[in-house]
Amino acid sequence: MLIRQGLVVLPEGLARLDIRTSGEKIAALAEHLAPEAGEEVIDAGGRLVLPGLIDSHVHFRDPGGTHKEDFLTGTQAALAGGVTTILDMPNTQPPTVNRERLAEKAALAAEKAVVDYGFYLGATESNVEEAATASDAAVALKLYMGSSTGSLLVTEFAPLYRHFSTFPLHKPIVVHAEDEQSLKYFAALHPRDHNHARPALSAQIAVSRALAIAEKTGRALHIAHTTTARELELIREAKQKGVHVTCEVTPLHLFLSEEDQHRLGNFGKVNPPLRSESDRAALWTHFDTIDTIATDHAPHTRAEKNQPYEQAPSGMPGVQTMLPLLLTAASEGMVTLNEIVKRCVVHPARIFGLKTKGALEIGKDADIVLVNPRVEYELTDEQMLSKCGWTPFAGRTVTGRIEQVFLRGSLACERGRFLLKPGSGKPVLLEG
Ligand SMILES: [Zn+2]
Repeated sequence: MLIRQGLVVLPEGLARLDIRTSGEKIAALAEHLAPEAGEEVIDAGGRLVLPGLIDSHVHFRDPGGTHKEDFLTGTQAALAGGVTTILDMPNTQPPTVNRERLAEKAALAAEKAVVDYGFYLGATESNVEEAATASDAAVALKLYMGSSTGSLLVTEFAPLYRHFSTFPLHKPIVVHAEDEQSLKYFAALHPRDHNHARPALSAQIAVSRALAIAEKTGRALHIAHTTTARELELIREAKQKGVHVTCEVTPLHLFLSEEDQHRLGNFGKVNPPLRSESDRAALWTHFDTIDTIATDHAPHTRAEKNQPYEQAPSGMPGVQTMLPLLLTAASEGMVTLNEIVKRCVVHPARIFGLKTKGALEIGKDADIVLVNPRVEYELTDEQMLSKCGWTPFAGRTVTGRIEQVFLRGSLACERGRFLLKPGSGKPVLLEG
C-alpha cells in the first residue's frame, strides 16, 4: 500500500512524504515513491499522517467488570480515537497478579481485541517474587501506593522496598502515587470534597517516597497521572540527579479542573482528583518534564456514577477522546504535533520496551492514522463506543477528524466503521 503526499508527523517535525507499507510493516518513506504494479494507493493530500497512538494506561475491565467495558468495546473505542496499542492495568477481577492471571487475560484479549495490547502485573504485599518471575510476560509492574479502584495496594515499607529492589530494574514499576495514610486523614476531614479529600500533599508525599526508593535501588520508575506542579518539580530534580524516572499526565488533568468536577459531580470523580485551575495550567508550563500522555481510561456505568458520592466509583473514560483533544490543543498553538507524537508514541514504546512500535519508521509496524485537520465537530455521549456510553468532554468542540486508522498495514477503522474482526489485535512484542 502507498499513502501519498500526506503531512507526516515525525518526532522531529512535519514532512510531506509518501509511505509504503508491505505486509504488516512500514517499508519505505520518501518524498516521492512511484506506485508499483497493482499497489493500492491512498491519496493523503491535505491530511495529517500520524503513527497509531499507544495508550499506556487503560482499564478495560476484562475480566470481572465487563458490564462496563470489555476487550472488544474498549479496543473499538481506542481505534476510533486513533489508538492502535493499549496497555491494560491489573486491577481487574480477579486482579492480574501472577503469570496464570496474565495468561487468562491474554486469552480474553486474543478473542476480542481489535488493537494490539500489553498487560501490567499488579503488585500486592505478598507477590514480590511471583511478580518478578512473571515480569517477562508483562510491560511493567503497577503498584498502588494509595487506595483506588479495586483491592491492589502496597503501603507497608517492606513489600514496597522489596518490589522496588526485586522486579527487574530496567523494567518500569508504574506507581499510583497517592499516600494512603494521608488520604485516610484528609478523607475524614473533607468527606464530600474530592480534591481536598485526596489533596496535592498526598501526591507529593508518595512521589517523594517513590523517588527516594527508586534512587536507592537504581530502578526504572514511571509515575502515573501526575497532576500538580510540585510533583513535576520533584520529578525534574530527580531526573537531573540521574534517577531513572519518567512520568505521565492524562488528558483529564490537562483539559479539566476542579471547576469541571463541580459541574460534572460524581462523573468528574477521579483519582487523583481534578485539580485547581492553577495546577491544570502548571501541567502545560511543565510540559517538558512530562514523558507520556495516557488516558487512564476507566469507564463506569451511569448507574454506578449516580450513586451517592461516597459509593460512586472514581474514573472516567478517555481512550476515544485523547487524540481529538490533543489535535485541538495543537490547532490552538498549545503544543506541536511532533511533541504529541513523542508523548503518545515514541516515549511509551521506549519506556515499556515495545519492539515493533514507536514511530513511522522503516521496519516498524504500519500503525497509521489519517486525520483531516480542518474538520470541527462537537464531542457527544452518543459518539462514544465505550460500554459506559458517556464522556466528561460532551459538548466540547474539537478540531481534527480521525478518518482512517490502519493496524499493522490493514485498514481497521474508517469513520466509525470497523473492518477487522474481533481478535485481530495481537500481543505487543517486548524487548528482553
Ligand atoms: Zn489508572
